[in-house]
Formats: sequence, structure tokens, C-alpha cells
Amino acid sequence: MNYHANEKGYYGEFGGSFVPEMLYPNMEELQENYLEIMADPDFKKEFQGLLKDYVGRPSPLYLAERLSDKYKAKIYLKREDLNHTGAHKINNTIGQILVAKRLGKKRIIAETGAGQHGVATATVCALAGLDCTVYMGEIDIARQAPNVARMKMLGARVVPATSGSKTLKDATNEAIRAWINNPVDTHYIIGSVVGFHPYPDMVARFQSVISEEMKWQLKEHEGTENPNYVIACVGGGSNAAGAFYHYLDDENVKLVAVEAAGKGVNSGESAATSILGKIGIIHGSKTILMQTADGQIVEPYSISAGLDYPGVGPQHAHLFQTRRAEFLNATDDEAMEAGLELSKLEGIIPAIETAHALAVLSKISFKPDDIVVINLSGRGDKDLNTYIKYFNLA
Ligand SMILES: *Cc1c(COP(=O)(O)O)cnc(C)c1O
Repeated sequence: MNYHANEKGYYGEFGGSFVPEMLYPNMEELQENYLEIMADPDFKKEFQGLLKDYVGRPSPLYLAERLSDKYKAKIYLKREDLNHTGAHKINNTIGQILVAKRLGKKRIIAETGAGQHGVATATVCALAGLDCTVYMGEIDIARQAPNVARMKMLGARVVPATSGSKTLKDATNEAIRAWINNPVDTHYIIGSVVGFHPYPDMVARFQSVISEEMKWQLKEHEGTENPNYVIACVGGGSNAAGAFYHYLDDENVKLVAVEAAGKGVNSGESAATSILGKIGIIHGSKTILMQTADGQIVEPYSISAGLDYPGVGPQHAHLFQTRRAEFLNATDDEAMEAGLELSKLEGIIPAIETAHALAVLSKISFKPDDIVVINLSGRGDKDLNTYIKYFNLA
């Protein structure tokens, strides 16, 4: 079984590029150049140099002893929360800004939901001296004020998306529309392994540094490169794609993808795409997405803004369909409790997205010598207000 994209960007039946004709020149320019650019030794040197000196990589692989005691397995945390800007998203934006520069682009556009990808994009635009516009749903702008302020400080323009539900999906539509109107000098930095070919593959390759490091770090700690389990939360799926990447072909490593169940899978307020979704096309890619019988996209819900996307990337749809990855889910309540538990047991406050991955520890029966790696995708500073309200901490 092949779990990687073929040359047309298909993972089994999922993926591809379903875009309006007006976008063909941009899409083809990227498709024809991304692999060559990424393989260029100068590019690699610059990318790796920035990951080391600007992002702070390698991120530590930390044996969480008190968490391990509690769940009766050897649990490691891959500390993406310690990256500059507080999550894994910067790995991808650094990579894409370097691609944009090599393609001679002068302007960058991006979409953002909670604002994390917008901040990571505004950051690398400041670094590279490129003009930056971030599209963000009007509702998200209102509820994510600190990230809007960060983007502005970093020199980005934040443009409200006022159509539809005024959230992430609408911001993505708006960014694609802006690209169609401004194709020549502009690059669109997508924030997850979603969208048309080559985005899912390109973003997964940039995030694959996560599992590349996990291999040598586990070798140092345990004398083996392979854990028994890799667990990661899935919104669009980029942190999971990076954590799974170098283990996809090693079927002894169990891959666990965790979706947000919101108020419960059958509550009507959920983002558990693999269970609730059907095959369809969103943002240029064939995948699994939440939709009504006549193909209208269903609004997802999760307490964590980073997980409420109505689809998953096409690679994840393929991993789900082939059962290469096991798809579990966690409710808002389960995630919040898991976030508090990690804070108390290990002194690490995780992002609420990440807390969903932690919440499945109690749902898997481990053997005592199982080695488990959880991808700690981000830190919880941005979520403090949600934690405060939920646990009455004020
Ligand atoms: C954005 C985000 C996610 C979800 O995005 P993926 O593409 O699924 O990784 C998860 N965790 C954190 C901390 C995020 O900021």
C-alpha cells in the first residue's frame, strides 16, 4: 500500500486538484517546481538553518514520567509547543516562504481560523520582508483579538471574511478568491495538509521534520527508532501528517489520529469528520467532509478553534479508509480535563487542540513496555481564557 501522494497528488482515491481555470497558472507553477526547489541543497541549507536558529529545533522529545505512571506505558511528548510562535505551524510557513521567494513572489496571502497560522505566516513575512495579507472570518476576528493584534504588530493586514458562517472555511474561500484576482506576484500559504495538489504533499513534507527528529531521538532514549504508538490531534491534519510521515510504511508503528467530538459525535455539534463525513470536494481536493445529503457543508463545532474544520486532508482520508491509522475522538469535556491533567502532572499547559490527543490515553489499553509518542502540537497560552472560563479559575 502506498500512503504518499502520487505525481497527480492522489492518495488512493483522495486528493487531486479541483480548482477554477483562473488558478491553473499558479497551481501548475507550484506543482512543477516544489519538489525541485525543496531538493535543492541551498534551499535545504536555508530551511534547516532557520528551523535551528529561528524556530529553535530540534524540539525536545521528553519522557513524561508522571503521565507514564498514570497510563502504564512509556509516554514521550514531542515538544512542538516549544517552537517559536508556540506550535508546529511555523515549520510549514518557514518552508513555504522560502518557496515563495524562489518563485519570485512579492506578496503573501493566507487564511486563518483561530489565528495561529495567521501569526506564523505574518512572522515569516516579517522575517523575509514580504507583504502579508491574512483572511480571517469576521467572527474569529472578534473572538481571537490577541492573535489579530499580533498579526498587526508583525506588519500584516487582516481582512475580514464576511460570507457564510464567517469562520475558517469562509476565510479560505476568500483567500482563494484573492489569489485568483492577483495571481502573478502572489503566493498563498495554506496552513494545513488541505487544498489542492501540491499543498497536502508540500505541507506534509515540511512538517515531516517532526518524525525525522523523533526517529533519532527515540534511538538515543530507547535504542530503537520506532515507538509502538504515535498519537496526534487532527484538524486539517498537518501536525499528525508530520508526526506520522516517516512511520507510514512501518506497519508495526500504530498511528492514532484524534478528532474533536465537540459536545459528542451525535450531538450535532461536532468536528469528528471521519465518522460524520462523506466523500466530497472542498478547497480543491477530494476528501472526507461533513455535508448534508445534498452536499451542503455542515458547520463543524469544537471548543478548540484549530480543530473545527469540516474536512480532513486527503492523506488522512486515505489513512482512514485503508485503516493504516486508527481514528479516535475526544469531546470538549474530555479534552479540557486532559489539558488540566497534563498541567498538573507534568507542568506543561497544552493547547486545547493538543489536549484532544492526550484525552485518548485513557481509551487505549497499553502494554507496560509500550513506547508511546504524543505530538504536543502547541502550547496553551492562547487558550488561557477558555481554560479560565471552563474551570472557573479567575
Ligand atoms: C492549528 C493547530 C492544530 C490543528 O491543525 P493541524 O493541521 O491538524 O495540525 C493543532 N494543534 C495546534 C496547537 C494548532 O495550532
